[in-house]
Amino acid sequence: MLDVIKSSPIEKISLAGASLFLKRDDLLHPDFSGNKARKFYYYLTHDFPSVHTLISWGSIQSNAMYSLSVLAKLKGWEFRYYVHHIPDYLKQHPHGNYFYALENGMRVIVGEVPSLGESKGILSIPEGGAIEESSEGIALLAKEILQWKATLSLKKCAIFLPSGTGTTALFLQRYLLDDCVYTTPCVGDEAYLKKQFTQLEAQQTLHPTILTPPKKYHFGKLYEEHYRLWLDAKKETGVTFDLLYDPLGLRVMLDAYEDFSLPLVYIHQGGLKGNESMLPRYERKYPTLF
Ligand SMILES: *Cc1c(COP(=O)(O)O)cnc(C)c1O
Repeated sequence: MLDVIKSSPIEKISLAGASLFLKRDDLLHPDFSGNKARKFYYYLTHDFPSVHTLISWGSIQSNAMYSLSVLAKLKGWEFRYYVHHIPDYLKQHPHGNYFYALENGMRVIVGEVPSLGESKGILSIPEGGAIEESSEGIALLAKEILQWKATLSLKKCAIFLPSGTGTTALFLQRYLLDDCVYTTPCVGDEAYLKKQFTQLEAQQTLHPTILTPPKKYHFGKLYEEHYRLWLDAKKETGVTFDLLYDPLGLRVMLDAYEDFSLPLVYIHQGGLKGNESMLPRYERKYPTLF
C-alpha cells in the first residue's frame, strides 16, 4: 500500500486549445487516491499504538469520509462518522462514497460531534483535513513535481488545482517556492479561502494566487455547463475528472490559460468514487444530456 501511493505520473494533454501537463493523483491507488491520500498520508505512515477509534464528521457523500474509512480499515480502527442527516433515498439505496465507506465498516451517527477532549484511544480528524498534519503527504506531492521538473529542465511552472478548504493548494505553494500555485474556491468564496489560508499560514506571501470564478456557483449543485465541460474533457483527453471540483477548476484554468505564460500543470485530485453519486443526479436533472 505505502509503495503504491508514493508517486503518480504526469502526462501531457491538450484540452480546448490549451496544452498542459496533468498530474494524475487519481491514479495513486484505487482505494486511497487523490488529495485525500496525500492529506491522510501522515496517519497512514505513523504508528498510533493507543488509538482504537477514528472519528470525523462532514457530508454524507464526502471523498474524505471514504478515504478515512479506508484508513481506519487498514489500521484496524473503528470508524465513527457524524452527519446531520441521511437522506431516506440513500439509506434505502446506498451508493457512491457512502456505500463504499459502509463496506469498509464505517459507523454513521446522526447527531452532534461529541467533544471528546483528550479521550484516550480516540483519534479525531476534522472535516476537510485542514490541519498541519496534512502537509507531510503534500510535501511528497511537491517533491514529485520538483523531480519531474528537473527531468524536463523546467525552472518555473504554473500549477493549478481547485480548492475546497484550500489545504492542498496552500501546502503545495509552501513546498514549491519557485512555482506559482493558482487555485479557485469551489466551496465558499474568495474571502473564505483567504481565511482558510491564513489559518494554516500567517505569511500572505506564501499563499497561492486565487482566481475568481466567472460567476457564483453553489458547491454540490448541478450545472449543465459543468456537466458539458466534464464530458468534453473526458472525450478529448480520455481522462475521467471529478464532477464536484474539476468542472469549475478546469473552467477557471482554461479562462486564464493565455495569462499563465509558464508551463502549466493541472492536479487531478481524484474523487472519482464521488462521481457514482453525482452522475445519477445529473441524469435525473438533465436526461436529454445522457
Ligand atoms: C477534497 C477534494 C478537493 C479539495 O481539497 P482541499 O485541500 O480541501 O482544497 C478537491 N478535489 C477533490 C477531488 C477532492 O476530493
